Amino acid sequence: MYDIWSILGFQHELSERYIRFRDYKRTEPLRSGPGEKGNPLYLEGEEKKLADSLIEKEAFNRIASDKIALDRSLKDVRDKRCLDVQYPKVLPKASVIIIFHNEAWSPLLRTAHSVVNRSPPQFLHEVILLDDFSDKAFLKTDLENYITKTWPDGIVRLVRTKERSGLIRAKIAGAKAAEGEVLIFLDSHCEANTGWLEPLLSRIHEDRTAVLCPEIDLIDKDTLQYTGTGSFSVGGFWWSLHFSWRPMPHHERLRRQSDIAPIRSPTMAGGLFAVDRQFFFKIGAYDPGMDVWGGENLELSFRTWMCGGKLEFIPCSRVGHIFRSSHPYTFPGNKDTHGINSMRLAEVWMDDYKRLFYTHRKDLLTQDYGNISERKILRERLQCKSFKWYLDNVYPEKFIPDENVKAWGMVRNPDSGICLDTLQKDEKTVFDMGMFHCQSGGSASQVISLSNKDQLRREEACLDAPGGDGSRLSLRPCTEAKTMEWIHFKNNGTIVNKLTHKCLDIGKGTSGGYPIMNSCNGKDSQKWTMQHYINL
Ligand code: UDP
Ligand code: MN
Repeated sequence: MYDIWSILGFQHELSERYIRFRDYKRTEPLRSGPGEKGNPLYLEGEEKKLADSLIEKEAFNRIASDKIALDRSLKDVRDKRCLDVQYPKVLPKASVIIIFHNEAWSPLLRTAHSVVNRSPPQFLHEVILLDDFSDKAFLKTDLENYITKTWPDGIVRLVRTKERSGLIRAKIAGAKAAEGEVLIFLDSHCEANTGWLEPLLSRIHEDRTAVLCPEIDLIDKDTLQYTGTGSFSVGGFWWSLHFSWRPMPHHERLRRQSDIAPIRSPTMAGGLFAVDRQFFFKIGAYDPGMDVWGGENLELSFRTWMCGGKLEFIPCSRVGHIFRSSHPYTFPGNKDTHGINSMRLAEVWMDDYKRLFYTHRKDLLTQDYGNISERKILRERLQCKSFKWYLDNVYPEKFIPDENVKAWGMVRNPDSGICLDTLQKDEKTVFDMGMFHCQSGGSASQVISLSNKDQLRREEACLDAPGGDGSRLSLRPCTEAKTMEWIHFKNNGTIVNKLTHKCLDIGKGTSGGYPIMNSCNGKDSQKWTMQHYINL
């Protein structure tokens, strides 16, 4: 065990809430030291060795983090236009809720310092450190002492759950404990940046049904470098009910009047958001039947939109988050909590579209997701809109594999019994389309749609075949390219590329291998059937 007080070091003088009593819009005091201004910290020698040895367990560079001041300075990464925005003098006050389970010391306290230091005091009701039953020794009295010593005015308070609640029930507990008009949830490894609070509060002041996310900047897990993202993506989801980032859609670019205006987003990443306290409870807070981690962000996103709210990203509000490679805590019972939580969400909120989730997660069909009757009653009571309404109005660009398509399902070569198959490659990357023995019942990796735009596609990626005889086909983000358009002739079974006029061919025909493009020759190796024909 290390001595926490020597590590904390009081090697850095904490510069007494230097922003709290100043004009918070001004640039931060010039300071030098490791990680100041959000700069990266590179370790060497013994320290690097120690850091490397810990990184697997803690999933980030704790040694580097411990060397950086708990109230380090950051570069102001906002669009310059954000500085000219005049916010109302009177705004609802925020309770900032930082939930944690066995978080490391320095990221946890850095989160708290950044919030206290960069929030105008008149708008900050309190900071709640919500300890979800951590068992690390330094999170007991050391933490209590640090809080009373550092914030004698009681602006930061510690609340502990009596059992491991998981982040969903921990957030509910935090929301219940909070007294401010606006709740702002943060993960326990964040850094709030200059001016982060006012844009959130003023938007909620304007519209109590707006659920808001700051722009989430990157804090590098290895060097703790703070980098402004500035790409302004929005949130989406995969039908497997994992969250995804996607470029802002064209219709949203057109709708917005300014580059710093709120961005409507179909979903949120989960950890960081602001919501009117009353509205949060009115729309059902969170599903208390969800365990540990996962799925709650999409549940809240769908519910917000379907039950009369809106979800927006606020470009002028910037908060950094350490994106870790894994979770540095246990999942009691080793359950797939994301999967089971997602079942609850699909069953309550997705109507018939839950079928698309189960296409990906057939394994879950036998799992017990518990009682969801309360959540169904909630949906009924609030008269929430349908999931189809959500797709049509909030996420019209979301591809639905079995709707508005010419055909979908397995793409099968009858002669060999081989089907096109992604071979489980990561669909966030570009890769060659593979093939595999057709799986009866259809495995998710063999579901392909022939869209009304004549693209052979998956959720996000399209089959592209610009090459000549013998070339492979790649799956890459869909574009308007002609090499991504296909004609499937049902009478002779061929699948022909519209630009090259080559035919899809099983090539060597080995399961686990790759189909290729070839000059059309009428042979069995170029004959295909699709599992479901809708409109062909
Ligand atoms: N957390 C918690 N209880 C749990 C699991 C997680 O309070 O049982 C906290 C965790 O400390 C963190 C937040 O929930 O502050 C989100 O978890 P994490 O950062 O691991 O999620 P990610 O950012 O990777 O999605
Ligand atoms: Mn996190």
